[in-house]
Amino acid sequence: MSANHMETTLNNGVRMPLLGFGVFQTPPDETREAVAEALRVGYRLIDTAAAYGNEREVGEAIADSGVDRGEVFIETKVWISDFGYDETLHAFDKSAGKLRVEMIDLFILHQALPSAFEKTTEAYRALEALLADGKVRAIGVSNFMPDHLERLMETADIAPAVNQVEVHPYFAQPDVQAADADRGILTQAWSPIGGITAYRDTGTGSVFEDPTITRIAEAHGKSAAQVMLRWHLQAGRSAIPKSVKAHRIAENFDVFDFTLTADQTAALDALDTGVRGGPEPEAVTLEAFGRDIPEA
Ligand code: NDP
Repeated sequence: MSANHMETTLNNGVRMPLLGFGVFQTPPDETREAVAEALRVGYRLIDTAAAYGNEREVGEAIADSGVDRGEVFIETKVWISDFGYDETLHAFDKSAGKLRVEMIDLFILHQALPSAFEKTTEAYRALEALLADGKVRAIGVSNFMPDHLERLMETADIAPAVNQVEVHPYFAQPDVQAADADRGILTQAWSPIGGITAYRDTGTGSVFEDPTITRIAEAHGKSAAQVMLRWHLQAGRSAIPKSVKAHRIAENFDVFDFTLTADQTAALDALDTGVRGGPEPEAVTLEAFGRDIPEA
């Protein structure tokens, strides 16, 4: 396996690996081993969130890995229940405490709260303060639609470095990607190999079984997941596939030894169904999605 890393430079000059490792729905008792395996294989970007309930185990795996802290790019997300200036400053202490780090590389607002947008902007103001204090190296957002970005930038001083949104061949959100690019924001794909089309009934069928993708995969002697990851990387997108299985953790990192042709990329681009797998960002409310995030 190639140990190559594709890196990108964020809009504030910070370097970040494009390919990372996700842990959404990874049970806490499996997180340590999954993250340890990912670090062994060569991943140097780990994505977690306060709401995933496994930051502590992510932190343990990193601390015990033998990999220098400075070589691992850690990103985590503030849940909407902790939005507000003071609340979000405290959310940093909770996450950093569980992760056992002084500094978080990328700190992200997990969702916009469209029905209480002032809470979103206050939370973002706290991110800007954490950045100024050197407690985080970059700040970002997740599931922000173009109008959320526009509303955010009416009060924000610093553009987010990253917008982490659902992107896979069946739901590519070209409008969001264009809005991100216009503002110099890196699009980071969640469910990058379309896991959500397999673990949730989105009505589109599983992207892993898409005949266009499996045909391209066969042509390269690669898997469908590897083709999708290559599609992201060649477009300059960050991608954070999740697995708890060692062979898939390795498979999803073994994507640096082949190149999709322009025709193959266009064929993947053409698979977009416009069907969202995740929650409708405009409909996220504290009432429906709020939950307590425990102290460190
Ligand atoms: P992914 O696209 O990463 O797919 C993960 C699913 O696919 C799992 O069920 C996994 O099962 C399976 N899988 C992994 N590798 C392969 C493979 N090579 N071949 C076949 N199946 C495979 O989906 P996720 O939704 O987990 O997204 C990835 C990450 O993005 C999350 O872990 C999280 O960090 C982030 N995320 C962020 C969200 C947000 O709102 N900001 C929302 C959702 C995700 P198994 O583990 O058994 O291998």
